[in-house]
Amino acid sequence: MIAGQRIKIHKTELEGCYGQYLHEKRIIQLHNKLPEHEIIPTLRHEMLHAAFHIAGISFCENFEEEACVRCIDEVFFPAYERILKRLK
Ligand SMILES: [Zn+2]
Repeated sequence: MIAGQRIKIHKTELEGCYGQYLHEKRIIQLHNKLPEHEIIPTLRHEMLHAAFHIAGISFCENFEEEACVRCIDEVFFPAYERILKRLK
């Protein structure tokens, strides 16, 4: 569930990417041959795409969704998770 919307997760054969989010179908597709350690980061990445679509950010003009998702995914979350661990 993301913002009250049920998003299905399907494992499927994907070419050229680890995962993708299909907003019209509310489906996250994960490549069926993903290495174990790539599953959670890929799912997190596609959940960010879903969140951007549901929140409407993806429909803004002059907007690079991939750059924003990667910023949150690879810059913000690692820092956030490190500080959470230190505070515990
Ligand atoms: Zn992406």
